[in-house]
Formats: sequence, structure tokens, C-alpha cells
Amino acid sequence: MAVYKVVEIGDPVLKEVAKPVPKINENILKLLQNMADTMYAAEGVGLAAPQIGISKRVIVIDVGEGLIEMINPEIIAQEGLQTDTEGCLSIPGMLGEVPRAGRVVVKGLNRHGQEYAVEAEALLARAFQHEIDHLEGILFVDKATSVAKKK
Ligand code: ZN
Repeated sequence: MAVYKVVEIGDPVLKEVAKPVPKINENILKLLQNMADTMYAAEGVGLAAPQIGISKRVIVIDVGEGLIEMINPEIIAQEGLQTDTEGCLSIPGMLGEVPRAGRVVVKGLNRHGQEYAVEAEALLARAFQHEIDHLEGILFVDKATSVAKKK
């Protein structure tokens, strides 16, 4: 178990476009473990590798329905619109109202290098869009219609 310090807004790694993972090796498996450990320790519902300073296209999500690990995730379909309050472990103490697609289909690789797809809506769809944005160097405050300090 390795819990990392979550990188905070202002760190240039959060603005980088993360690199695709060409091959799943021991380091990527370790990264997945460390990311899950860090996400659960911080009580987040998702984490992208740049948030622990690693500019690679790897995300983990758990919205209370079990751990999802995805390598090289890609949104292949989206529809509808939802606007809800969102926060980010890299922007502590802040919340924003962020418009997102209501439903998405995301595909990527699992830890065995097999491609799979997830159909998501509501909070899970929001989490995927938020984490994939991190891989493009985009933070929720870049998209929020309003941002406020957490009470
Ligand atoms: Zn975030």
C-alpha cells in the first residue's frame, strides 16, 4: 500500500496532456495500486495519474459501486446534459457547478490489457468525464459555470 500526496492546482503536471500507455508492465500495475490506495485514503471517487504527478493516461474511479481501473480511457459516445456540484482532490476546499454529458460510453484497457467498455450515467458518467479531462490537462474550474468555497 502506498498513499501519495495529491498534486494541487498550480502544479504544471495538471496542465499537461498525459501520454498514452503503450504497454502494461509491472510499473503500470503498481501505479494502479498506488492510485487506488491514494483515492481511498483521500476519500475521493476518482483519481487520474497526473494527480500523483505521473503524466500517463490512467484513471481509477469508485463511486460506491466498486473499483474501476482504466488505461488509455476514451469517451466513444455521449448524450444528454447534467449539471451538478463537483469537487476535485487537486483543488481542496472548492466546489463548482459543472455541466457534463448525462450519459457516456467509455472504452479503455483493463489491467490485463484487454479492451472493455463501460456505459455510465449520473455520478459515474460525471466521474469518467472529470478524470478523462485530467488527462487533457483540464480541471473542473475550467468548465464550471460557478465556483465557490466549500462551506
Ligand atoms: Zn479532479
